[in-house]
Amino acid sequence: MELRSPEAFWLLKNGIPYNYPSLRENIACDIAVVGSGITGALISHTLHRAGYKTVVIDKRDVANGSTAATTSMLQYEIDVPMQRLAGMIGEKGALTCYREGIASIEILEELLIREGIEAGFERKKSLQVAHSEKGVADLEKEYRTRKEHGFRVEWLSPKEIRERYCMDSHPGILSDEGASIDAFRAAHELISRNHARGMQVYDHTPVREVQHETDQVKIIAESGFHICSKRVVYCTGFETLRMFRRKYADVISTFACVSEQSFGLYPQLKDLLIWDTANPYIYMRTTDDGRLLVGGEDIPYTYNPVGEKIKNRKTGKLVKKVEKLFPGLTFLEDYTWAGAFGVTKDGLPFIGEHPDFPNAIFVLGLGGNGITFSVQGMELVLKILAGEDHPLLHYYRFDR
Ligand SMILES: Cc1cc2nc3c(=O)[nH]c(=O)nc-3n(C[C@H](O)[C@H](O)[C@H](O)COP(=O)(O)OP(=O)(O)OC[C@H]3O[C@@H](n4cnc5c(N)ncnc54)[C@H](O)[C@@H]3O)c2cc1C
Repeated sequence: MELRSPEAFWLLKNGIPYNYPSLRENIACDIAVVGSGITGALISHTLHRAGYKTVVIDKRDVANGSTAATTSMLQYEIDVPMQRLAGMIGEKGALTCYREGIASIEILEELLIREGIEAGFERKKSLQVAHSEKGVADLEKEYRTRKEHGFRVEWLSPKEIRERYCMDSHPGILSDEGASIDAFRAAHELISRNHARGMQVYDHTPVREVQHETDQVKIIAESGFHICSKRVVYCTGFETLRMFRRKYADVISTFACVSEQSFGLYPQLKDLLIWDTANPYIYMRTTDDGRLLVGGEDIPYTYNPVGEKIKNRKTGKLVKKVEKLFPGLTFLEDYTWAGAFGVTKDGLPFIGEHPDFPNAIFVLGLGGNGITFSVQGMELVLKILAGEDHPLLHYYRFDR
């Protein structure tokens, strides 16, 4: 499955910082983590730190799946507005999921500080604007709901948005809690540090077969070598969806482009994430090297790699939208790419055990908030291993 087009920005920016050997012997461990994107990096870190003998394997280089293509906006607001989510899972559930989103940004920030990892993490506000006059009433209702529940939000008029951000738009919600990061760098640095502390890591090791036995899991690589472990944690991103008989999510292709470094509005937008209420929505952020990174124009995923023609048409549309939002600005693009994205009906991920796969735990950070969901996965995996419960395991379970 093609998870992204070859020229994803983070890969070009960082290169391949660290390489690991492929699996060339049979080994045993407590827990095997399959997948070394941002999810596998966070989960393996947690497990290794908790004292489990942990092995990470990936069929690609580390973080070369969706994590190389992500726009890495960290938001507590999920793709489904809180008031709509409340209609699906109840008000208590919606509040829990939204509040846990705020907590995950803090947890990730603390983890990066503790580990001394420079991965472009920057605290930002998040501005969601109505995409049309028609969308204003619903967004204002969402604002009032969140305000009532103590979220730090502000309602901005078009005039206020223009004055603060030189942006021409309908009104919107400004949230205090958000951030952005270079998830590719973060994943690489975290895995590298844990590897130095003794965690085994194998890249270029595709899994051919996994035998889920009653008391262990046997992971057989394409090379024929195997790993015997007590448990396996699947951090295999959107490719995991093919393992299940049920369709848990739709996969779409999304498009992104990044401007030249001299992006004219950098100081105004430096500390801001922007998105709108359109379906599909446009989303943008600045990078720590002074560019504007914009994404959107989603289409259903096709199994063929996205062609240059579609990619150029889609990113051309994104550029036009940006220039409409910022009159007088010329967006000069440096790189454009496409990536795959899993979407669930309620905007929530799937994290937990699955009856068809004994001794396995899945951490599938689906949706536009995949990274914060993966952060939540760290605590949830430990809870599952300890046989304990957590409210999120109920909302993220497979049989919902
Ligand atoms: C353009 C774009 C924009 C996005 N924007 C955001 C955003 O702003 N904020 C946000 O939170 N999320 C965003 N996302 C989603 C986010 O990128 C993902 O949630 C996240 O990168 C998923 O990380 P992962 O580690 O779970 O998956 P991946 O990075 O895909 O890692 C999975 C790994 O598993 C490995 N693997 C799979 N199968 C096997 C196998 N059989 N054997 C061995 N290895 C295997 C793969 O090689 C891969 O390296 C965006 C995604 C895209 C494409």
